[in-house]
Amino acid sequence: MDNCIFCKIAAKQIPSASVYEDEELLAFKDINPAAPVHLLIIPKVHIDTLSSAQPEHTALLGKMLALAPKLAQEQGCAPVQGADGSLSGGYKTLINTGPDGGQEVYHLHMHVIGGPKPWRGQR
Ligand code: ADP
Repeated sequence: MDNCIFCKIAAKQIPSASVYEDEELLAFKDINPAAPVHLLIIPKVHIDTLSSAQPEHTALLGKMLALAPKLAQEQGCAPVQGADGSLSGGYKTLINTGPDGGQEVYHLHMHVIGGPKPWRGQR
């Protein structure tokens, strides 16, 4: 879509710090990270918001969600269980939708936010 920054990133017209790519998805580092790990997972196809996704996008949405734990593991922020059974680590997955949802870029994207705290802001 013309004038969509994430379409331009998907098309390599704008550079990004990419961490994953396949035929349907791209993941890259957020330019203004809120935490030590802050990735964005986008579909290459343009979808404005989660609320404009159609039934035919269901598998694509599932792939976005399934990619988050794989990337979190690679980035070192997946939850881990210590010898005493306690959990540490972890991350948020977040899709801001519409103005009241805090969406700024109108190309569907999922934030993956993690790493050692403190993190900036409330996401
Ligand atoms: P919010 O800014 O409230 O998180 P969004 O959910 O729409 O709104 O998130 C857009 C995200 O895209 C922001 O975290 C922003 O830092 C990031 N961003 C914008 N432009 C770029 C870019 N060129 N490369 C990487 N990340 C970008």
